[in-house]
Order: sequence, then structure tokens, then C-alpha cells
Amino acid sequence: MTNRETKAQKIIEKNNQIKQIDNHTFQVKSQSSDKWYDVISTESGFICSCPYSTFRKTNCKHSISVEINQGIRKYIEDVKQKQVIINPVEINGCKFCESNHIIKKGLRKNKNYSIQTFQCKDCKRKFSINIGFEKMRVTPQAITASMNLYFNGESLRHVVDFMKLFGVEVTHQTIHNWIKKYIGLMETYLESITPQVSDKWYCDEIFLKIKGDRKYLYAMLDDSSRFWIASQVAKTKYTEDVRPLFKNSQVRAGKKPKVLLSDGAKNFMQAHKKEWYSNYKKDKVEHIRHIHFKGDKNTNKMERLNNEIRDREKVMRSLKTDDSPILTGMQIFHNYVRPHMGIDGMTPSEKAGIKIEGLNKWITIIQNAKLNQ
Ligand SMILES: [Zn+2]
Ligand SMILES: [Zn+2]
Repeated sequence: MTNRETKAQKIIEKNNQIKQIDNHTFQVKSQSSDKWYDVISTESGFICSCPYSTFRKTNCKHSISVEINQGIRKYIEDVKQKQVIINPVEINGCKFCESNHIIKKGLRKNKNYSIQTFQCKDCKRKFSINIGFEKMRVTPQAITASMNLYFNGESLRHVVDFMKLFGVEVTHQTIHNWIKKYIGLMETYLESITPQVSDKWYCDEIFLKIKGDRKYLYAMLDDSSRFWIASQVAKTKYTEDVRPLFKNSQVRAGKKPKVLLSDGAKNFMQAHKKEWYSNYKKDKVEHIRHIHFKGDKNTNKMERLNNEIRDREKVMRSLKTDDSPILTGMQIFHNYVRPHMGIDGMTPSEKAGIKIEGLNKWITIIQNAKLNQ
């Protein structure tokens, strides 16, 4: 990033420094006086009325700030247009004859809870549907509440205690089995929907202990939505260990970023060169070391993911293998379930155009996943 781009970024971050007058005309506030400069969009780019621009005949920070701002707007518009909404599953047909003439017919009592039953007005048969939770001996709410507590950092032992308070007696092995079953189901379904991530990503490295062994978790995140695009677990820190992270992120997002932020570690630098090097300007992925940004919000964002994962050290202790559903579960929780303060209490997936409706997002996802299986 050039000096002028950094200055332009600062103008945008200040808010209310850019006004749009009409389709082609903008005004940007001078950063040293009360003046406003006119920035006009022309076929050959933006032209600004400031002294710098008139004198040097080159792009000034004002035109660059308008250009970047328009890019951000376009991205937000695109996300809105491509938004995918996942709704809670409603039962509106007969299980046997698919007729729509069904009526609610009281509750069927299971050993531990009751399920809504229906009667079909055409074939007269009675049925109950518990999509995704068939034959489970506790409620979908208890199962998903356990998962939520666990991924929020509680130990399995705590989750077992909480469940007892709600009258549900389970072992920690049962909870582990639920996680395995449901995270797998959710993962396959969610991977079929592409998140609308921005052109600026950041990669990070988190130290883990799995079964007492030192391991590294590499993560790729979208800067704008905080969407956790992909992760990779490896024993060592070589370039070859992080290259799959770059490949998988590109597949998951359906594109490459234009800017990549990292801590500048050698493995990231080389993987970037090997995976995303291009001679063409249009195809170029700029790599920025976040050391240059010390103290600014990019650094903070990365540290936040680190904290999020470190909070789960207890969770990590129960990790048994690299491909444990626990890691995937953490990623699903981060992306689709947990609201983030940094993005106005939205979930990263919502910000990236995937909106999960319903009071219990776990249940919405699980039931949709089951129907799409
Ligand atoms: Zn200017
Ligand atoms: Zn029927």
C-alpha cells in the first residue's frame, strides 16, 4: 500500500469525510482545513480539485478515498443481491402421501419429551416429524444448547452439569457423539453455500496442543466480515504446511483476495508467492505484513481470533485428532452462530450474505442440512 492509499484509508475510517453529490460528483473534506474538494469520476479515473492533484497531475488521497469507498459500497450491494436466507424448516405436507391437507393433532410423548403430531386429511394417517433429530432421546433444544455451551468455551464436564439442571442426564461421551454427528452433517451442507467475502483477507497462526503434541492451526479470515474461510492443522511451520490453507481458501471463497495481511512469517510469504503469484496486475494478490500496522485495527482483529481460540484451551484438551469435528465445530460456531461485537452484533456469515433465521440457528442449519442430504 502506498502512502497515499494509507492516507485515503484514514479519511474513510474517519466517517463523514466523503459526500456523494450525484452519480459522478463527490466531495471530500480537506484534512488540513475546512475546505471540501470536488472529486469527479471520469472515464480515465477520478479527478480532484485539490492543489496536490492539480499540481502533480496524479491521483491524490481524496480521489483514492472515493475510489476505495465506492468499491466498499459495491461490495455491500453485491452481498445484498446475492444473499442466501436459510429459514427454519416448516412441516407443511403429509409424510406418506405428500398432501398439504394436514392438521396439528396434539403431542406425542416420548420418554423424555413430546413431539408435535399431525394428521393427514387425505390419507387419514397420523405422523410426527422431528427432522434431523429422529430417534434422539433428548430434545433438539438440549442437544443444540450443549453444543453452544461447549463451543462457547465450557468444558464437557460443565456442559454435563448444566444439562442436569435442565433435567437432562447425559454423559460427556454422549455430548461428544452429538457434536460428531451434527457438525459433520452441518459441514457438508454449509460448504455448498459460498460466502460473499471481500478482497482483503488475513491469515493467522495459532498454537495448539493435540493429544499432548504441539500443533499449529493456520486460519484464513475475511477482513470485512470476519468469516473464517479455511483452516489447516500441521505439525510444523514449513511453507508446504500452509500451502493447503491458500488452496482451500480459494476453493471455499471461489476467488482469491486482492490483498492478504499476515504477520510476515516466512511460511506465509513463500506460500503466497507459490500459490498466488502472478505477473498480471489484474491477478495480483498484494501481501502486507501487519507489523506495519502495529496498534491499528488489523492487528487487533487478528489478536481477537487468537483470544477466541485460546479461551477454548479447555475445549482443546479433549481434541484427539487433527481432523477432529471440534475444529470444524469451532469454525461453524464462529461463522454462523456467534454474534460478533466488531460487526454490529451480526454473525460473520450474515455479513458475508448467508443469513440463518430462527431463534435457534443450530436447529435451522441442522434441519436444512438433513433435508438437503
Ligand atoms: Zn485531492
Ligand atoms: Zn397423507
